[in-house]
Amino acid sequence: MSQTEFQIIQQHFADSDAAFSRPEIVRGIGDDAAMLQIGAEQILSFSMDVLVADVHFPATADPELIANRALAVNLSDLAAVGADPLCFTLGLTLPLVNEHWLAAFSEGLVPLARQFNCPLVGGDISRGPLNIAIQVQGQGEAAIGRDGARDGDLIYVTGCLGDAVLALASFGLDTHLGEEFRIDSAALSDQDRAYLHEAYYRPQPRLEFGRQLLAVASAAIDISDGLLGDLGHICNASAVGAELELSALPLSDCLAAKLPEDLQQQAALLGGDDYELCVTVAADKAAELESIADGLGLRLSRIGRIRDGYGIDCRDRQGQLREFDAAAYQHFGDAE
Ligand code: ADP
Ligand code: MG
Repeated sequence: MSQTEFQIIQQHFADSDAAFSRPEIVRGIGDDAAMLQIGAEQILSFSMDVLVADVHFPATADPELIANRALAVNLSDLAAVGADPLCFTLGLTLPLVNEHWLAAFSEGLVPLARQFNCPLVGGDISRGPLNIAIQVQGQGEAAIGRDGARDGDLIYVTGCLGDAVLALASFGLDTHLGEEFRIDSAALSDQDRAYLHEAYYRPQPRLEFGRQLLAVASAAIDISDGLLGDLGHICNASAVGAELELSALPLSDCLAAKLPEDLQQQAALLGGDDYELCVTVAADKAAELESIADGLGLRLSRIGRIRDGYGIDCRDRQGQLREFDAAAYQHFGDAE
């Protein structure tokens, strides 16, 4: 068994001599974004995601959509810490120079950059396998970590879960949920197809919600690897456990109609690529959290509760514990 990506990060980077501290660093490795104190009142947050062809997107996908998605997933990490975007840098390796591809790719960066006032300020480019690294910078007077969840806090999630992995299956691609996780794409309506395509390529970074969470949430994370894995990061960082109600998981009509119940739950818990926010909040602040989401017209679902202890228990309508074997998406750590 090789190391998981989290063991690699811990052993070779977080615990390495390179990751020493200095006073400005409020938070180093281990959260959605690193945080630095700049002056007395501002925290600078920054986060980087690397997207690799045929791992994070089909290499033949529309370059405009790839660019949009690459920026969206990075902005989502800023949303998770409640930062206001400032700017981004772009590292690109390309197998060959294709003018049309590059023109469409650069167009694809524009809508989100404009929408969130987050311009491109630098980067690097080289020949190599198609690979996109974006680093976003953001700022705020405070930032939300993964380590503030406490016994009794309520757990909420924005939007719907599971659509992105259903989208991958609908494109005819293998997913990490295995053989059983299939969908007959010929049976999808044009409307379903369009819905899933948007869910995968145009995730909506929840930046405004994230910013307003600062005063309310005890912890937050964006869902990139799947709810169980990402809520697991909150639990580990906060040294708590959690209880989830399976019947409360927010599912789109499309997902609910296309999959049997056990696969719906697998998609929502383990699918990943949702880029929704999972938030914990003290019970006496729950009404405030719900009214923030209402004000933004954002779907927000209460899905469980933080408890002392370890691990995440998933209960069905009858209160029975259900086990989910497959792990959240991991780049390394498969049996060799
Ligand atoms: P996210 O899913 O929010 O992007 P990751 O799971 O990729 O977060 O990373 C977890 C933490 O590990 C983050 O704080 C990230 O900055 C850090 N990290 C990931 N890869 C490296 C690396 N190669 N060197 C240093 N830190 C890393
Ligand atoms: Mg994240």
